[in-house]
Amino acid sequence: MLGTIVNFTVSGVPEEQALVAIRAAAEEMTRIEALFTIYGELDNSVKQFNQSKPGVPVSLPQEVDALLLQSKRIRQQTHGAFDAGLGSLNLLWGFSQEPAPVAPPQAAQINMLLGHGAKEIRRISDKWVRDSAQARLDFGGIAKGYAIDRAMEVLKQHGIAHAIVDAGGDMRVIGNHGGKPWKIGIRHPRKTGAIGYLPVQGDQSIVTSGDYERFFEFEGKRYHHILDPQTGYPASRCMSVTVLAGDATTADAWSTALFVLGPGEGLKLVEATPGVEALWVTNVGSVVLSSGMRSMYKISPQ
Ligand code: AMP
Ligand code: MG
Repeated sequence: MLGTIVNFTVSGVPEEQALVAIRAAAEEMTRIEALFTIYGELDNSVKQFNQSKPGVPVSLPQEVDALLLQSKRIRQQTHGAFDAGLGSLNLLWGFSQEPAPVAPPQAAQINMLLGHGAKEIRRISDKWVRDSAQARLDFGGIAKGYAIDRAMEVLKQHGIAHAIVDAGGDMRVIGNHGGKPWKIGIRHPRKTGAIGYLPVQGDQSIVTSGDYERFFEFEGKRYHHILDPQTGYPASRCMSVTVLAGDATTADAWSTALFVLGPGEGLKLVEATPGVEALWVTNVGSVVLSSGMRSMYKISPQ
């Protein structure tokens, strides 16, 4: 699901109960994916919005409306680094489409889309309007986190108190592991294995954005799927960013934003934002931690 493999870990209940809960949680994730994706054959309100006539307000389902409002809020908090209105640019680069791209698009095509993003997607009373035909929604930087949160909510409704919902390394964790914290590894962006780990318990989310997830190399240069809204090109300040937050929706959006910003601007922002901690692996491979992250982070024994 969601372009990755989702793993559910549940403990503290009989296997029967766990399986029923996991099946329901997986179904919920499938529903969320269908609701937000701009790819594939199935129609949905997000694709319809992306085809809507500029200037004509349309209504969106409550969940899409809510995630779009939250996306706009995070766009403001991150000084435009997180932009859920980059659909046209993302489609042009084609990282989420088949066949996978092997060369960057023409600079002229990229430049034509600069400045067209979520700021041109506005809420008018309870409807949404796009100001230009180039402004298209793409929830690719936040929907996986939302799906993880929804899945965890379903597990909780089934009486589960100790669990991990792990979508390809992006996860939410509740409870603990036999009375001890869950031990969550942070992947090295270039080598197999972890650079360190975080002991987590209670209810916390850990999401990583990395340049190794979807990329190609062209004329000796790496091009990947996280775009800098300012340039229209892949953001170049980091190899990966791992974010710790109370919910996976927040962690997902912020990991994408902080990847774009890098630690230079990002660290100040994180220190000023309660409930968000981050770890950057910069483009030269150095590790930068926010203060809250530093107090939790453990370096892996080599
Ligand atoms: P993530 O892996 O969570 O960092 O999200 C990357 C995905 O989010 C991409 O595949 C795009 O669909 C979308 N995306 C790319 N750049 C941005 C950005 N600057 N802001 C928001 N979403 C983005
Ligand atoms: Mg993200």
